[in-house]
Amino acid sequence: MTKLYRKLAVMIEAALAAASASAALQIVPAPRKAVEGDGSFVCNGDVAAQVKFESDAAMPKEGYRLSVAKDGIKVAASDDAGRFYALETLKQLSSKEGKDGTKVPCVEIEDSPRYSWRGFHLDECRHFFGKETVKSVLDLMARYKLNRFHWHLTEDQGWRVDVPGYPELVKYGAVRSASVRHGERAYTGTKEDAAKLNGVKYGPYYYTEADLREIVAYAAARHIQVVPEIELPGHVYAALAAYPQFACRPENLAARDPRLVWGIEKDVLCLGNDEAIKFMENVLDWVCKVFPGDVVHIGGDECPQIRWQSCPKCQERIKKEGLGDHNGLQPWVTRHFVKFLADRGKRTLGWDEYLLGDIPKSAIGMSWRESRTGAGHELVSGAAAATRGHDVVMTPCSYCYLDYRQGIEEDPFLYIGGKVTLERCYSFDPCAGVPDEAKAHILGGQGNNWTEYTWNEYDLAWKVWPRMLALSEVFWLGEAKPGFADFKSRAAVQRDWLIRHGVNCAPLE
Ligand SMILES: [Zn+2]
Repeated sequence: MTKLYRKLAVMIEAALAAASASAALQIVPAPRKAVEGDGSFVCNGDVAAQVKFESDAAMPKEGYRLSVAKDGIKVAASDDAGRFYALETLKQLSSKEGKDGTKVPCVEIEDSPRYSWRGFHLDECRHFFGKETVKSVLDLMARYKLNRFHWHLTEDQGWRVDVPGYPELVKYGAVRSASVRHGERAYTGTKEDAAKLNGVKYGPYYYTEADLREIVAYAAARHIQVVPEIELPGHVYAALAAYPQFACRPENLAARDPRLVWGIEKDVLCLGNDEAIKFMENVLDWVCKVFPGDVVHIGGDECPQIRWQSCPKCQERIKKEGLGDHNGLQPWVTRHFVKFLADRGKRTLGWDEYLLGDIPKSAIGMSWRESRTGAGHELVSGAAAATRGHDVVMTPCSYCYLDYRQGIEEDPFLYIGGKVTLERCYSFDPCAGVPDEAKAHILGGQGNNWTEYTWNEYDLAWKVWPRMLALSEVFWLGEAKPGFADFKSRAAVQRDWLIRHGVNCAPLE
């Protein structure tokens, strides 16, 4: 008897696991709970038009209940995002059956996200992709229930937004006189690096305010918030090429050219210059008006302090504000802009080390390095920031950097280095290493694509897909993800779909 019960228990467990994993549904991210029924709903024309919606205030934010029966489809949700995601799930479930109409398998799904921040980041400064590529990125983000588009718009190597009142930004900052030749690696700006430049003008490439508003609206229609990033006080060389007077040493910008090689520029914003601070205020004030979301990213990473150490204006600021030494300048400017943005109803987001020093707890961290040491910086890990009471978005480079090699055979594209396989992406746990009491501060995660070695949309798609499929499931399901083998079989179906729709998705290796 005991043996029989045990056998039955194992069978029931297996059946339940199969139902909850819902491998047969072949969708990504997998729904949290799904019970498949018999038969299908069949209709001619638009399936979404057949859906009966009802409101259920008890449903979690962005969550939905989808019921597909032979005689109709019902969706219950408490918000528009939930209704939207129910329809996205329905699109993935629907199969076109030619003259017989569209078929959807009968199923009961109850679904909601583990994390509120499910992001994708695109660097348009090292290489520029343009509106149409961005729109296709947003379409795919919506399909896979990603809801934050982090748009890296300013850098040492390019400034990509046309800010009213500052025409030189795009005249000088949006065009490089040359770039690193395809296949070369150049970071330091030495003579040897200069020999690796291609001599080909790149740009001017930038977005007008109308373009930005168009993208913001396109994203909003897909329940995606655009998070603009305006870097400060480092990674601003392209802006300084436009306005050399905002650098500690304007003479270093005499060529009026953004940084041509990759890597980190030593010339940064002069924090002793009130006009330079005013310039950033004006830029961010405009950004707050163009981007209606509640978060603005101010970079804050990798800012060398060497110019500040010998700049009379910066030294004067240190004295006047009682900042101790040059180490006090970055926390000072961070506090300034956290308050400046808060006065405009925005929360500030920045990379790891911008949280060093006495920074208001309202500031959100974006953690990209797990280590607390390296590159001469003292770093703030995501776990440490969350423990100190900051909200954090986890984007550790060893899981989330899509410019790292993906470990596939005969890869035709170039990468910056590293290695992040599809399985590695899938194994990511945004809360790993975070003490239980601080886990509520982990807003979610994000896949980041830096584009030093990404030239065009084909290259970009190859690096993003299928790895972003794995991350989307991690961000949606968290600990409830059903496992890599289960994911891989569904991802294969999605890869076929992506390729049929012109997306240059890499193999699932
Ligand atoms: Zn200075």
